[in-house]
Amino acid sequence: MTSFTESEERQELRRQVAKLASSYGREYFTRQARDGEKTTELWLAIGKAGYLGINIPEEYGGGGGGIGDIAAVCEELAAQGCPLLMMVVSPAICGTVITRFGTQAQKQRWLPGICDGTATMAFAITEPDAGTNSHNITTTARRDGDDWVLKGQKIFISGVDEAANVLVVARTEDARTGKLKPCLFVVPADADGFGFTPIPMEIVSPERQFQVFIDDVRLPADALVGDPESGAGAGLQQLFAGLNPERIMAASFSTGLGRYALDKAVAYVKEREVWGQPVGAHQGLAHPLAQSKIEIELARLMTQKAAALYDNGAAGDLAAEAAAGEAANMAKYAAAEAACDAADRAVQAHGGNGITQEYGVAGLLVAARAGRIAPVSREMILNFVGMHSLGLPKSY
Ligand SMILES: Cc1cc2nc3c(=O)[nH]c(=O)nc-3n(C[C@H](O)[C@H](O)[C@H](O)COP(=O)(O)OP(=O)(O)OC[C@H]3O[C@@H](n4cnc5c(N)ncnc54)[C@H](O)[C@@H]3O)c2cc1C
Repeated sequence: MTSFTESEERQELRRQVAKLASSYGREYFTRQARDGEKTTELWLAIGKAGYLGINIPEEYGGGGGGIGDIAAVCEELAAQGCPLLMMVVSPAICGTVITRFGTQAQKQRWLPGICDGTATMAFAITEPDAGTNSHNITTTARRDGDDWVLKGQKIFISGVDEAANVLVVARTEDARTGKLKPCLFVVPADADGFGFTPIPMEIVSPERQFQVFIDDVRLPADALVGDPESGAGAGLQQLFAGLNPERIMAASFSTGLGRYALDKAVAYVKEREVWGQPVGAHQGLAHPLAQSKIEIELARLMTQKAAALYDNGAAGDLAAEAAAGEAANMAKYAAAEAACDAADRAVQAHGGNGITQEYGVAGLLVAARAGRIAPVSREMILNFVGMHSLGLPKSY
């Protein structure tokens, strides 16, 4: 029988993560952001409790769970006002790609540090000129003896300053033009020739975005993820393996943020009185908040469906991956829209206080808005649904 309730184990996981996150809370998160500090204590606490690598096999220090579990962790953190983008990147994208495609030695080398939080991994695909069109990336990997030499530039890369390594998407030199034949390399953040500068962003978050310069970075042969003999298509498969987890996690990030905004708004409109009764008694405020409740719940349900399809589908089963992909895209779209609307309504519900730093609601607007752009924009999801779900012609 189909169940629309998460397992007791998953619900307990949510409660425990919420408890841990609330002991840090929004105040801690914004204080660290405004002081230019990091949330390292929180990150390591999540790692120590076993939540950070909950989706990674136990033999590499993880919890042996699935994307549904790590997505629940991401959502509950955000719902307590601590939305952590690196949850999307390090355990979900990088952890999944390395678990599925890394050699035994690579898994042993990189996964334990992702799980306990001591060796976080950033992910770098976006480039200034290619943008959404990843087929046009130009970061190039050249063979030099047994080594690889990487050259290129990346933009908007999250958390490079907190990462021990960066999973960099490049293309091999003999495939500079035409369709992307990507190859993925793990680059130590302190490698010679690897530089990065922060991009001033308007998001109130301790996690920052960077422009990355890769200037003839020399890497050993085993920096290339997977077995180099596994064929030219391996890189593309690896990249696609990261996409569904990425979208499911981004959706959870947004539903958590939306829940946090809605909770703040509801608490405020129950207390604030200007006509002898709480302002929440006015339908002009109550209805939009009720709409947000519905939209967030719908997005959560789709996110859980996407995670269940992903976790129950056998790796490499193309039909199962396509079904999970469709649901993951829809969940990500719905969650980003729900979060944007919830943040906007939360600001409105607070009146002037909605714009003050003290109430910290306006700061949610940009964070929620980023969910419409990254890691995949709403337009690209609509393109995907138009083409793949509706069978419409490709428009670009
Ligand atoms: C907060 C944040 C964190 C990020 N973290 C990372 C990270 O860790 N690693 C990483 O690699 N990248 C990261 N990114 C980059 C992010 O993935 C890109 O910003 C995103 O994919 C969009 O690319 P772009 O900014 O170049 O926009 P562009 O490609 O320039 O697009 C501009 C606009 O045109 C629209 N558009 C483009 N093509 C089409 C089309 N065919 N049809 C309709 N509309 C179209 C887009 O949807 C968008 O609205 C991050 C971005 C942000 C904002």
